[in-house]
Amino acid sequence: MPRTKIRLHTLGRIARMAFRHRTRMSVTIAFAVVAGAFQLWIPQLLGAAVDSSFTFFQRGASIEEAQSVLLLSAALLFGASVAHGVFTMLHNYHAEAVGQFIGYELRLAIYEKVQRLSFSYHDAMHSGDLITRGMLDIEGVRLFVNTGIVRLIVLSVLVGAGSWLMISTEPVLGLVALSFVPIVGWRAIVMRLRLRKSWHGLQRRLSVLTRIMEENLGGIRVVRSFGSQDYEMSKFDRTSNRAFNLTRHRIGVRVRNATFMSFAYFISMGLVLTVGGAMVLDGSITVGRLTEFLAYLTILQMPVRQMGLLVNSIARATTSGERLFDVLDREPEIHDKPGAPALKLKKGVLTFDSVGFAYEGQDEKEHTLTDISFEVAPGQTLGLVGPPGAGKSTIAHLIPRFYDVSSGSIRIDGQDIRDVTLVSLRRAVSVIQQDSFIFTSRLENNLAYGNPWVDRDHIEWASETAQLHSYIEQLPKGYRTLVGERGVSLSGGQKQRLAIARMLVLQSPIMVFDDSTAAIDAATEQRIRQGLASIAHKHATVVIAHRLSSLMHADEILFIDGGRIIERGTHQSLLRDGGRYAALYALQTNPDEDEAVDAKVFSRDGGLNV
Ligand code: ATP
Repeated sequence: MPRTKIRLHTLGRIARMAFRHRTRMSVTIAFAVVAGAFQLWIPQLLGAAVDSSFTFFQRGASIEEAQSVLLLSAALLFGASVAHGVFTMLHNYHAEAVGQFIGYELRLAIYEKVQRLSFSYHDAMHSGDLITRGMLDIEGVRLFVNTGIVRLIVLSVLVGAGSWLMISTEPVLGLVALSFVPIVGWRAIVMRLRLRKSWHGLQRRLSVLTRIMEENLGGIRVVRSFGSQDYEMSKFDRTSNRAFNLTRHRIGVRVRNATFMSFAYFISMGLVLTVGGAMVLDGSITVGRLTEFLAYLTILQMPVRQMGLLVNSIARATTSGERLFDVLDREPEIHDKPGAPALKLKKGVLTFDSVGFAYEGQDEKEHTLTDISFEVAPGQTLGLVGPPGAGKSTIAHLIPRFYDVSSGSIRIDGQDIRDVTLVSLRRAVSVIQQDSFIFTSRLENNLAYGNPWVDRDHIEWASETAQLHSYIEQLPKGYRTLVGERGVSLSGGQKQRLAIARMLVLQSPIMVFDDSTAAIDAATEQRIRQGLASIAHKHATVVIAHRLSSLMHADEILFIDGGRIIERGTHQSLLRDGGRYAALYALQTNPDEDEAVDAKVFSRDGGLNV
């Protein structure tokens, strides 16, 4: 039962969103009721027209008199049909408009929430899943206004009032006429629920197809170089075939049920003719009344069949709504404390004090970081080196609070970073990630991403320092060149230099380079470092690298392994100590030297230590 409660709660919440547009919803409902009333008037007009024809015929009225009354009936019928059409159009228009408003509001709310949700949420949630929530689920909720709420009102008016009109005038004939309602209604609902179930299956199969295609396009070079086109083709064909079979199954369900429903409907039409015809013959009802009932039957056929669509809309809105509200109701784990002040920058000294950290789901023993302590002041550089998976990037991600420490603290100028606003903290810290993401936009826009008001001289200085300016200058459109997926393709090294320049534009007091020069050749990296030397006194710098030439100039170097600092010192002191750092240096400068070096750098199981 709690499940039902949650579902009703979800539908109620969507309905409340719709009724926030009070005027439009009231107008929609009023128009839907009026449209239904006009539609139900049509059978009565038809019945009256048939009866009056018979009356004229029986009492031998003049042609003119008969014509004028019949013309009036035809005009009324025409007017009722037009009014029904106009009010249907109006209520559809307003319901669609409310649905579109809700879609617009939800799209913004979801996008805004996704910007704020913590990284731990994004780690656990597939981005494709979030995109589905942002598109398909919003569509499910949006459509509920017209295909759920308004359809429920229209069906209630037509089936409810129509049934009442028939039963209250001729109870027996009414019951005979309505005999198809439960059968067809039940069948329509069963069919829709079956189609809905297979729709989910179809969506899953289509998303596998999309993923296969995405991977194929993304990894096209790997596919071609391994000559795996046939394998890829058969993989695609298999999944495509499964989707095709399911589509055939769906067509079967639809055709079988539609035929059954038409059959049930025509049987009750036949029953009405048989029972009604006998009643006409024994004089208990007029031919007009029988015509009226047959017309009611025709009118009721569609809404009864649409009961399935209504149930489908309710089911879809419930699932979609639950998934959307799950995102909207989630509070970001990383947030400002109430009344938190902005970070007050004096010098820009970064301190790690016995920091321990575990990712969500990790227990005490498998902590990613344990007891990490260091301090970097402006003008100083800290180097972090260690084997893959040692925890270096995790250290970088803790500084702008992508995650919160599990123990210990991180301070900037003595202020715990959890006590200040996120905006002020992230303004003070720039991290260049391992994968430099480039937006599909002009080079100048990518460079000014962090500060759109920055002047051109500053942008050029940043790209000059990152050794990118001369490359940009020789492009036909220079800084206005479009880059990204639809623009000029940049090499890995060019992307990294663009990311460095983008960070330099910001001039943050704390700069973190997370393996951000791995794709840049050593000579270019050397020139970038020389360029940075002129501003180094203003910044505390953290450099993470596998190539020791990238960080051997650092004031302090930490060798991290298994989330712990296992060696620390300057390049010279670490070499003197003759530990893992010295072994790595020997391997990088003279790889063939001797086996003892190999033994230190490689772990016991034969894996590379760095
Ligand atoms: P590399 O040199 O390869 O970049 P690293 O030293 O930077 O490695 P981290 O990326 O900090 O290592 O990862 C440290 C450990 O934490 C690894 O075991 C990794 O699998 C794990 N890890 C990293 N990110 C997450 C995450 N978002 N959720 C759970 N575990 C993670």
